[in-house]
Amino acid sequence: MVFFQTGEGGDVQPPQFLLILFNMYVSKIQWCEYTHNFWHGCKKIDQECSRCYMFRIKSRVGEKGSVEYRLSDKAFYAPPYLEEGKIIFTCSYSDFFLDRADEWRKDAWDVIRKTPQHTWLILTKRPERIIQCLPPDWGDGWKNVWLGVSIGKLVSFQRAATLTNIPAAIRFIYGEPLLEELDFLTEMDGKRLIDSFHWLILGGESGDEFGPNQYRPCKIEWLQRAIHALQTQTQAKVFVKQLGSHLCKEMGLKDKMGGNIHEFPQELQIRDFPIFNLAE
Ligand code: SF4
Repeated sequence: MVFFQTGEGGDVQPPQFLLILFNMYVSKIQWCEYTHNFWHGCKKIDQECSRCYMFRIKSRVGEKGSVEYRLSDKAFYAPPYLEEGKIIFTCSYSDFFLDRADEWRKDAWDVIRKTPQHTWLILTKRPERIIQCLPPDWGDGWKNVWLGVSIGKLVSFQRAATLTNIPAAIRFIYGEPLLEELDFLTEMDGKRLIDSFHWLILGGESGDEFGPNQYRPCKIEWLQRAIHALQTQTQAKVFVKQLGSHLCKEMGLKDKMGGNIHEFPQELQIRDFPIFNLAE
């Protein structure tokens, strides 16, 4: 496995034609190579979910994001067909620790266990459910699974605190959409949370200019100050995903989500991955 920066276009390459049939996609999400969903649908749980892209995309095709269902076996069991190791984000159309998925998750863990060539990125807003949902042979954390929590507001730091108590090969914080200025050096119980994390992804919210999916602002200074603090006072790797639609408008960027790294101010042109030798 070689870490690299995924391109903006996410071009389709063989055997992608086959994997699309099976619901695996080369991703345009900058911090992974593929997305794979074992199930779809979710429940919004807080303000950070209010503009959830999965709900937006589903509504465009006349579906409801709130309908939770397992995908077909053909889709569910597709990952082993991809023999070369990839960085896979699951579940991009749900939450891996959704309670509705309790009856499906064991089979999902089996797929992940049988595909050590892949690096599985699991991002959740429900870290309080992780411990009860881990497979019995989890141990200190499977090497091919990274666990992350979303933090867009101060109140969500509790998610990071919860994740620090769960064994994992790599832990990450997903600070997108960043909805207020956050101090990622914040302490809980006398310890800096960030010291238990290897990776921090940052970004502003994407969305429409008006209407129910109107984007919320992210200020460039929030990103600049966060990155400066992280780079000068922590070991965590930083990945700037996108500046978001608000900054796109304010800065006159061409990419509507502010996701083109070449349009970022130079000090924000950072897309590092955590150091992790997958061959070990
Ligand atoms: S937890 Fe994630 S997938 Fe579920 S509603 Fe919130 S943002 Fe959407």
